[in-house]
Amino acid sequence: MLPSTEFVPCNLCGSQTATVRYTDVKRIDTQLTEVVECDGCGMVYLNPRLARLVDNFTMNEAYLREHYLPYYQKIGILTPTLELDAAANDQFHQSALAEMQPYRELNRVLDVGCAIGLFLKAARADGWDCYGVEPSHALAEYGRLHLGLSITEGELGQAGFAQNSFDVITLWDVTEHLLDPKATYRLVYSLLRPGGLLLLRMPNWQSLARELLGPEWDMFVTDHFYYFTPDTLTLLMKQTGFIPKKVGADGLVPSELDAIVEKLGPDAAAEAVARLQGDTGNGRGSTLLAAAQKPRSRRDRMKMAGQLLRRGELSDLTAEARTYLRWFLADRRG
Ligand SMILES: [Zn+2]
Repeated sequence: MLPSTEFVPCNLCGSQTATVRYTDVKRIDTQLTEVVECDGCGMVYLNPRLARLVDNFTMNEAYLREHYLPYYQKIGILTPTLELDAAANDQFHQSALAEMQPYRELNRVLDVGCAIGLFLKAARADGWDCYGVEPSHALAEYGRLHLGLSITEGELGQAGFAQNSFDVITLWDVTEHLLDPKATYRLVYSLLRPGGLLLLRMPNWQSLARELLGPEWDMFVTDHFYYFTPDTLTLLMKQTGFIPKKVGADGLVPSELDAIVEKLGPDAAAEAVARLQGDTGNGRGSTLLAAAQKPRSRRDRMKMAGQLLRRGELSDLTAEARTYLRWFLADRRG
């Protein structure tokens, strides 16, 4: 029996109207194939889509064995005998850990959608108290058994973490998998302590690789429900109360470079690399990396509103005023 699907409005602005961008994308399965762009705010998403995350094939054991672990082997994080090669992913982890250092007060970090827990393993070595949450039983169990990590199985909302209890929350390659990014970001906001840091990584819709590869872009898979640009990600962070600190996208991931060589030839690939290294490459890299902060105090929020007003960013100011009101009321209730 086919899993149930649903049509959804735009998660960011609620608009029901959208323009179809791709109808024939390459996917691991072929049931759900329309990628649309919201006419209201430019958010790109899959519609229709699976109604329940648990129906996705990535949730089962076979996915771990047939796709996930072989992929980690392919990119060198796991050896052929499934031993960890920590060095392979270390550069990224170390730069994230350096960014986290100034935020260490409670010494607690939460990785949402932590998979087998490779980032948490690096954070633990850096002295952090580490917590993970992961919806896939197979991945969570692998991390608990092989890496000895504390990984709660299931959705973030059911994990039972206390409000304001983490210095840092990370979502690496997770936002694109969420059925309701806005709701999850609000939840993350409540779990972060005031002044805490949110770190994000996800595929970049605006990337040169997506433009060149079109429907053959590697990121078109069944459980990538959303595709963000620097602008739509900034909007999501602001709408959920965060103060964006940086949003950027550099570089080209090796598998995309290979795909460009295969589809368009080595000259096109060399030109793409040159474009991304030059000034014109700004924001067109493969992967969005972003950081945002939860305001520390009411005064922080007022300061942010003042900046928006001075810069004439009135629509952002309206969104900020709404967020402030929600924040103020929740504060009084709680
Ligand atoms: Zn929209």
